[in-house]
Amino acid sequence: MIYKEFKGERLSNLGFGAMRLPQHSDGTIDRDAVAAMTAYAIAHGINYFDTAYPYHNGLSEIVLGEALSHYPRHSFFLANKYPGHQIASEYHPDEVFEEQLQKCKVDYFDFYLMHNVYEKSIDVYLDEQWGMLDYFVEQKCKGRIRHLGFSCHGEYPTLLRFLDSPYGAHMDFCQLQVNYLDWSLQQADKKCRLLRERNIPLWVMEPVRGGLLANLSAEEAAPLLQARPDESVAAWAFRWLQTVPQPTMILSGMSSLEQMKDNVHTFERVSLLSDEEQLLLQAIADRKRNSVPCTACRYCCSSCPQELDIPSLMNSYNDLNLGFSLVPIMKLEALPPQKQPTRCLQCGSCAQMCPQKIDIPEVIKRLNLLKEQSPKWTELCKQREAAAKALKGNK
Ligand code: SF4
Ligand code: SF4
Repeated sequence: MIYKEFKGERLSNLGFGAMRLPQHSDGTIDRDAVAAMTAYAIAHGINYFDTAYPYHNGLSEIVLGEALSHYPRHSFFLANKYPGHQIASEYHPDEVFEEQLQKCKVDYFDFYLMHNVYEKSIDVYLDEQWGMLDYFVEQKCKGRIRHLGFSCHGEYPTLLRFLDSPYGAHMDFCQLQVNYLDWSLQQADKKCRLLRERNIPLWVMEPVRGGLLANLSAEEAAPLLQARPDESVAAWAFRWLQTVPQPTMILSGMSSLEQMKDNVHTFERVSLLSDEEQLLLQAIADRKRNSVPCTACRYCCSSCPQELDIPSLMNSYNDLNLGFSLVPIMKLEALPPQKQPTRCLQCGSCAQMCPQKIDIPEVIKRLNLLKEQSPKWTELCKQREAAAKALKGNK
């Protein structure tokens, strides 16, 4: 495992993000799988674990806390986040913080972040009536938080505004979405430069963009697998991160033991990409730039009156838009009628919650069009009709 120094701590360069934990078919978290992944992580040198108040509707903290409770507290670093981006009148820093400690079965957090500073949440974070900064600085003085930081999905001016606010002097680290697609798409290069100027260590989130960069088409993946037969497609995204200046922590939201094994293998060594290899990734990034930049964070889902699985619909749209048809059409066809994209009311509540600023209703409208125009969809509809007729004939 590669390790990085941070204020006297020795952090594994790869962190286990508990945002997309393994689930059973009914959607509940597979606790045994989480325990097995945690055991594997610790046995193979991962010592950083990251959760947050809203992940898995509040259950990520509990399940991760339970899995970690079998290990000495000093043997791992635990990160959690304050949900200022979802502020509601019933949220009080002290109540939320105490609840989080309890749920995670710990009496301090090693790393604590202001969660998701972006255009819609920054005014809440800066509003003194909530008393957030004072409260968390006080907890740090008491040793209940060891390092304070923030995660940011906002544009460059929002990042700059936050760093120039009273928070700036207290932030030990900053978590940004950095990967070879967002380097220019979301101005990650410019944001990372700003952090370097302010001497703020970089934590990376979404290194494979919610799986997008780990699940390339066969055509996109072929040159990568040919160039590095011993490495997975996902490993290329991590190798690219080894070429950008100094991420201290790279968080991966791993959903299976297989993913974790692959990532641990990648982080056994540094292996910088050659110029030619970087060009291969550049070509993929250029092709994907027209895609919808959904990271599957699911912030939008709770606001949908139709309870649509929005990230999955965004994913289907991207696949269809990039010219793949079989898998996305089959996925759409398998959805129950009440979960079909045609059930979207175009109400727009979801878009207000999206840190990637995706015009979700518009994408769903386009998805419905692409679906109807797809020959695969027509073919499946015909097959369905034929099967229904045959069934009728048999009766
Ligand atoms: S616009 Fe559609 S997807 Fe978005 S919240 Fe409304 S019904 Fe749900
Ligand atoms: S559409 Fe936006 S809010 Fe919803 S899952 Fe994707 S990135 Fe997150």
